[in-house]
Amino acid sequence: MAGQTLSQVRALLDEAGLAPRHRYGQNFLIDLNLMRKLPALAGVQPGDVVLEVGPGTGSLTELLLDAGARVVAVEIDFGLAGLLQQRLGGHPDFTLVVGDALDGKHALNPTMLEALAARQRQSPAALRLAANLPYQIATPLLIELLLCADPRFDRLVCTIQREVGERFCAEPRRADYGPVSVVGQSLARVHVEATLPAAAFWPRPKVESAFVTFAPLSPDERDVRNPRDFASFVRLHFQQRRKTLRGAARSGPDADALPIACDRLGISTTARPEELSPAQWRALYRACRP
Ligand code: SAM
Repeated sequence: MAGQTLSQVRALLDEAGLAPRHRYGQNFLIDLNLMRKLPALAGVQPGDVVLEVGPGTGSLTELLLDAGARVVAVEIDFGLAGLLQQRLGGHPDFTLVVGDALDGKHALNPTMLEALAARQRQSPAALRLAANLPYQIATPLLIELLLCADPRFDRLVCTIQREVGERFCAEPRRADYGPVSVVGQSLARVHVEATLPAAAFWPRPKVESAFVTFAPLSPDERDVRNPRDFASFVRLHFQQRRKTLRGAARSGPDADALPIACDRLGISTTARPEELSPAQWRALYRACRP
């Protein structure tokens, strides 16, 4: 099994009476040289547990199984799930979860988490994400995977919209710098590894994509006590990004603590949210919500 060419993906869909569905971000990666980079960038070793969100027709899934990974694949499209079950259902290292990888905007699918934990109970191993993600869920999904403490991911590698990858890596004062940049960079080392042309996918999307890797920081390396609370703190203070820190906090839960914390940290209360670095945001969080 070496991944699927465009004609193989088309034939599989035709046989199953299916067509690509835009609402589920079904743009299949058909450049197999690029596809082969995903398991390599993820550092997949035999026995590793790999989450693949959106296996589609199973092209990347096959490469991951070939690499000796134990794959938990989550597919929302019932038609594709049937196709996958038929092709790969008998493989001892393949688990299919049919449904949405997200459970609302701020939680992961519990059946998916249980399937990952079950694979890890079989024999403990590194846990990785390797996926060509549907664009619609990429940002909330990646944030949730980084926040997930049980099970904890060792590495996340995915193709996502190039702009989304750049937002995760953005530096302060850039137009695309925001809560995603602050939270992402506070929980992981993030890199845009390469861009992928629209022609690498079928149907061809309107946007460019990128390979993005996340190396999550270990709990010892993290310097925020409660990463989930930190994420909501950052989101709250970015809600009115045109306002100053003091103005935005005025009626919220940090109204009293924030000016005192800013004073202690030498941060001006007239600064705007996008002017603070991720490290300054973490310091502000620690001081406001000790
Ligand atoms: N893995 C295939 C590939 O690399 O060509 C297909 C990737 S395609 C970009 C995205 C896949 O994610 C589709 O199979 C789509 O049905 C699935 N998907 C979309 N939204 C999903 C969700 N919320 N949860 C799980 N799968 C989803």
